Amino acid sequence: MPKKRKNMEKLQVLDKTFAISIPEAEIQKQVSRVAAEITRDLAGKSPLFLPVLNGSFIFAADLLRQIPIPCEVSFIKLASYQGTQSTGHIHEVIGLNADITGRHIVIVEDIIDSGMTMAHMIETLQAQNPASIKVCSLLVKPEALKVRIPIDYCAMEIPNDFIVGYGLDYNGFGRNTKNIYTLIKD
Ligand code: 5GP
Ligand code: MG
Repeated sequence: MPKKRKNMEKLQVLDKTFAISIPEAEIQKQVSRVAAEITRDLAGKSPLFLPVLNGSFIFAADLLRQIPIPCEVSFIKLASYQGTQSTGHIHEVIGLNADITGRHIVIVEDIIDSGMTMAHMIETLQAQNPASIKVCSLLVKPEALKVRIPIDYCAMEIPNDFIVGYGLDYNGFGRNTKNIYTLIKD
């Protein structure tokens, strides 16, 4: 397919139309880069990866298969988002069964928008005295950040637009794509 037509690729999710903004090849290239950085930094530290459900499930699966060092993975969950605007409502971290005391933690997120969710997460985990906490996010919206948080690994920075795909949803739909799509403003 000619490049021009591919760039125009649209995705309909419920009542909204999205246009392709990050193709699969670019996502995979940046995921590989971040995986190499984490492998270099955490070799010998037996890290515990904490991917945040639901949004990071595809990113975590791709990322972790490219990190060949001994490590553990435990999915956690919290919800702070509805529709296309952050509600600011933060819920508790659930699903953390592992003892993280003295462990090197890597939080694996889909996207950092205001940063509120991640700030809360770091605070909650810090209370359990891990050896270190690193933050790894597939996407960061630098213009939307409202709080200062350390972002150790970031695959891609994006503008302050609403995106779906590669794990990220719009009202529960649109997660199951290989590319990332941006909401077309009407
Ligand atoms: P924050 O607390 O940083 O404002 O929001 C983080 C959470 O909001 C993310 O983990 C994600 O679930 C959701 N979120 C933020 N921006 C977007 C976006 O553009 N698309 C989707 N699908 N979710 C988003
Ligand atoms: Mg998330």
